[in-house]
Amino acid sequence: MSDIERRTKTVELPPTITVRELANSIHSSPIEVIKNLMSNGVMANINQQIDFDTAAIIAAEMGYEATLETQENEEEEQGENPLWRQMIAGEDQVDLVSRPPVVTILGHVDHGKTTLLDAIRHTDVASGEVGGITQHIGAYQVELKGKTITFLDTPGHAAFTAMRARGAQGADIVILVVAADDGVMPQTREAIAHAKAARVPIIVALNKIDRSNADPERVKQQLAENGLVPDEWDGDTIVVPISAKKQEGIEDLLEAILLVAENIDIRANPKGKVIGTVIEAELDKSKGVLATLLVQNGSLKVGDEVVAGVAFGRLRAMFDHYGRKISKAGPSTPVSVMGLSEVPPAGELFYVVNSEREAREMVNERQQERGKTSAAAKSVVTLEQLFDRFQAGEVRELRLIIKADVQGSLEPIVSTLDEFSSGDININVLHAETGNITESDVMLAAASKAVVIGFNVSADSAARRLAEAEGVSIRLYDIIYRLTEDVEKALKGMLPPEEKENVIGHAEVRAIFRISKIGNIAGCKVTDGEIRRNCRIRVLRRDKIVHEGPISSLKHLQEDVREVRAGFECGIGVKNFDEIEVGDRLECYFIEKVAVEEPVF
Ligand code: GDP
Repeated sequence: MSDIERRTKTVELPPTITVRELANSIHSSPIEVIKNLMSNGVMANINQQIDFDTAAIIAAEMGYEATLETQENEEEEQGENPLWRQMIAGEDQVDLVSRPPVVTILGHVDHGKTTLLDAIRHTDVASGEVGGITQHIGAYQVELKGKTITFLDTPGHAAFTAMRARGAQGADIVILVVAADDGVMPQTREAIAHAKAARVPIIVALNKIDRSNADPERVKQQLAENGLVPDEWDGDTIVVPISAKKQEGIEDLLEAILLVAENIDIRANPKGKVIGTVIEAELDKSKGVLATLLVQNGSLKVGDEVVAGVAFGRLRAMFDHYGRKISKAGPSTPVSVMGLSEVPPAGELFYVVNSEREAREMVNERQQERGKTSAAAKSVVTLEQLFDRFQAGEVRELRLIIKADVQGSLEPIVSTLDEFSSGDININVLHAETGNITESDVMLAAASKAVVIGFNVSADSAARRLAEAEGVSIRLYDIIYRLTEDVEKALKGMLPPEEKENVIGHAEVRAIFRISKIGNIAGCKVTDGEIRRNCRIRVLRRDKIVHEGPISSLKHLQEDVREVRAGFECGIGVKNFDEIEVGDRLECYFIEKVAVEEPVF
């Protein structure tokens, strides 16, 4: 094979892929992939999902050029869990009508997402009809110039990613809130990566322009550096200056949304098959399961038989975002519904089926299918994390994988351990999960030089065998403070040993002897302690240090000696220092390295 042929091995990868699948695709072993991710600063286990960009970097390092699978391929593969877009593709094109765009708000913490959502809600004139109060159901709609926009009301990347992970792609447009006084921050970049990966257009809301330290030009520069070139600089990204707090620029932002929506094909068939996404859901003591659903195709009706993941049921009642009872909801409408058998996870797709029997069959099939895939496959490592870790550089850290019996004990353990991190040493919890210690935990630990800690759990025999073979330490605890105490000790064991100086004696220079080839020798009297040949000398002149360094020679009565005690005279040569003078005081000392604590793990 020629060099060129070797370099042009290509592989098609989906937008997200597990470590195991990636290894298969590039004919490598999962351990190799994990190691490669590690050397790029990403800790992942075998079932972990990584995004396309990260996978492409790893593939490139292993000699493959990765291309993103085309949408058709992706949809074919997800036949069991089709995207709503696929649904629409199957609809009779003449029945398709444009529907309101669904918008989600992303951005760095404190940049004003919540304030903006409130400000937008207040612009809604229709809310006046019911006293201006909208119910919090995780989504709401506003109207502008006779057109409707649907907003998802849970800002944050987790919700957006949860939808993506299930192929739901709940939003048509992302509003990226960037505070004009703070600029592009890590979560801003993360949001850009999420939106780009989902191929959802971004509109930037340049918030807090009322602040005296707002610097919009700087932020635009940063946005451009992150691939969002503002339209005023001939780019594709609309940047709308706003003040969410003073409710300024909100209408401009809504107009920008309508403008972008016109340019993307946002259509659905209100008469078609009903499909949508679960926005949020909870168990209400008196009403049972309350779920907010976003209808994406078709029209949802009271009495419909709905399946969402493994939850199903006949819809008993339906409410709009004002809390008004409604009987029918078309595409892009968020509704709160009662009647599901259990709480479906946010981001889950829902469908209307013909009968309860069909619903039960679908749920049974899914339960069997789900038993096979681990929950770990749901968390996604992003490209942003990869870059952040690159930039962070190497840090001294104690890497841990923590398994605990219940979430309730996992959280306090992780937060206590996090507090131990100091500037010098970090605790890096690579993975924290409930459940027994398994082979895959040990594999991750082996690849990442981590310690596995179990609280009220055990390690199965396969995990133990692998740990022994790979030299991975597994520590089991049943008392939290013992666990945290040991980690603290382990951390101290990792600290560089402290250097301690021990002064052992002083001498006074009374004469200087010039000896050819050797240089100046100080004729001294030891005033206290002792002077040792293998120690260091500090030369003090009128209490100022003029030199520090090792002794080159130590003589007593012309003889080389190892030490000279107080009261005796001696000749001292100081290495690389010839400027010694009568009257100088010599201090003899040695440096001791003291380990702060013995390592525990
Ligand atoms: P989130 O974390 O992104 O949801 O941010 P919040 O909406 O909670 O806002 C964070 C802080 O910024 C709050 O104290 C808001 O009052 C303040 N804030 C939000 N928007 C603006 C704005 O336009 N101007 C000013 N001066 N402050 C704002």
